[in-house]
Amino acid sequence: MKIAVYPGSFDPITNGHLDIVRRAGQMFDRVIVAVAINTEKKPLFSVDERRRLAVDAVKGLQNVSVDEFAGLLIKYARRKRATAVVRGLRAVSDFEFEFQLALMNRKLDPSIETIFLMTKDEYTFISSRLVKEIGELGGNVSDFVPRGVERAMKRKFGSR
Ligand code: ADP
Repeated sequence: MKIAVYPGSFDPITNGHLDIVRRAGQMFDRVIVAVAINTEKKPLFSVDERRRLAVDAVKGLQNVSVDEFAGLLIKYARRKRATAVVRGLRAVSDFEFEFQLALMNRKLDPSIETIFLMTKDEYTFISSRLVKEIGELGGNVSDFVPRGVERAMKRKFGSR
């Protein structure tokens, strides 16, 4: 049984993330979307909200589940018996940080491989940060996020 963990803030989950999840789901027996309880970042959505929005977004994908984790990713992955960590790459700008992270994780546990996947090009420009900015300014985010997220953002920002 090949299990992969796809970690991130998912604040909120976007169509870009979902494309990565779908691709990973075709490569692994099981994919766990792992929502990070990150105390450093100030998220728009609470961990609970982020998890619920992700659950709703992946409900059609049978081998995908959603969980949350705190602390060291590698320890979490080991606990889940995952052999791979999946990360998405959008542009060269993602590369440097992701490369560093992957090497660090390899150092911590060489048995867990980091796999990079690229989205369809139509999703490469989507980021949670930009989606939040657009939502806050009253823009239409329906092309970038699943319906549940769009609704949650409308509730969060009100009808400005
Ligand atoms: P983090 O806070 O760990 O960066 P994110 O939720 O922003 O978490 O992203 C999780 C992963 O998904 C990261 O590897 C990120 O590069 C990737 N990702 C985010 N948006 C996209 C996208 N539109 N296309 C491809 N990968 C993406």
